[in-house]
Amino acid sequence: MNRGPRRPSAASDWIRRARDVMPGGVSSPVRAFGAVGMEPLFAASGKGARIFDEAGRGYLDYVLSWGPLILGHAAPPVVEAVTRAAREGMSFGACQAREVELAERVAAWVPGVEMVRFVNSGTEATMSAVRLARAATGRDLILKFAGCYHGHADAFLVVAGSGVATLSLPDSPGVPAATSGLTLTAPYNDLEAVAAVFAEHGARLAAVIVEPVAGNAGLIPPREGFLEGLRDACDRAGALLIFDEVMTGFRVARGGAQERYGVAADLVALGKVLGAGMPVAAYAGPRELMRRMAPEGDVYQAGTLSGNPLGMAAGIAQLDELERTDPFDGLERRAATLVDGIVAAASARGIPACGTALGSMWGVFLSDGPVFDFDDARRADTDLFARYYRACFERGVFFAPSAFEAGFLSTAHTDADVAETLGVVGEALDAALEAAPDAAPEGAG
Ligand SMILES: *Cc1c(COP(=O)(O)O)cnc(C)c1O
Repeated sequence: MNRGPRRPSAASDWIRRARDVMPGGVSSPVRAFGAVGMEPLFAASGKGARIFDEAGRGYLDYVLSWGPLILGHAAPPVVEAVTRAAREGMSFGACQAREVELAERVAAWVPGVEMVRFVNSGTEATMSAVRLARAATGRDLILKFAGCYHGHADAFLVVAGSGVATLSLPDSPGVPAATSGLTLTAPYNDLEAVAAVFAEHGARLAAVIVEPVAGNAGLIPPREGFLEGLRDACDRAGALLIFDEVMTGFRVARGGAQERYGVAADLVALGKVLGAGMPVAAYAGPRELMRRMAPEGDVYQAGTLSGNPLGMAAGIAQLDELERTDPFDGLERRAATLVDGIVAAASARGIPACGTALGSMWGVFLSDGPVFDFDDARRADTDLFARYYRACFERGVFFAPSAFEAGFLSTAHTDADVAETLGVVGEALDAALEAAPDAAPEGAG
């Protein structure tokens, strides 16, 4: 063992050591902060709305572990439930009451859900939902939308959002052409393109998978009629509609986007908020479909740690706290205050900006808008974003380190936190403009 002492202020030391033993020094690419030209944040702890780095600096956190922490960091009901569960055993590989309790809550909250299969990541949830859809339809093709991210399974790394967009990787080496060839794509919010895909391939389409509110290309809401149009197209072609609600579930409304938009999916993928920061995800749907899964049916999917007791305990505690406090309207109002404030601060400085708040998800693009799809999103000024981003971070506000990620809000964020954030945003925009390349003196080479 050759582990150095843990010195609180030596973040650069951790970064150096991390890069030595982990690709890019990270366990997931977007954590490297490459798109904003910064060194990664090494988190030491979190409490409520704030995350603290190894040097003890606190930041108002709008990343919230990329979505799961809707009650903020180290929420007491979640911590207590997980601690209690840990004392009783870390994993059993056997059935336990907590799985039933969480599955019953999901079925009660999420429209159309009668049965749930727990897995360990959103990637597993979407991957398995597609497997089930292919089995149920006897077809192989799927349709996804440009800029939507459904995890890193082979089938989804085709014009994907999130880290893939941030790094400008169109697809990924290592994905066989035979696999990516089964994934068709269309621009988000574009029903004409969808109709064209169905006209040519409808009879071979197993499923359409969609983020019902796109959150991995920045935040892009569905245009009126888009989700209904997908529902119609799937019904007519005999394809299944999969809502990937890993991000939107328990965020855009209590029951997710199905509830908010009144459009029913055939299968839904859940994650993030479901596990309250533990590696918990699920796919779910009506009994008729879910019964195709082994051991009731013939479609195989399994997991050593699936339904893990700590994860189940965390999920139950978080959902129960949401049930008890019903914070959804308040979260949306506060998110709207934040977005309106950022857009106003940008506009006041002549910077084009547009944004949206949907439940406890929010997003701002540094462009005129409107933003309906991934191409629109990519018109945002990423250089200006990076300068603005760094200035916010230096002033103690932690947004997602990419122009192509949604922001989040927790019940721990107060009006005062939002006001403080808006103060920082104003200063940061000024700093970003001052640092702008076009402010360089004439003739500078
Ligand atoms: C985060 C995310 C995933 C992937 O979940 P992981 O747990 O990171 O595998 C899938 N779909 C959407 C919409 C997501 O936001």
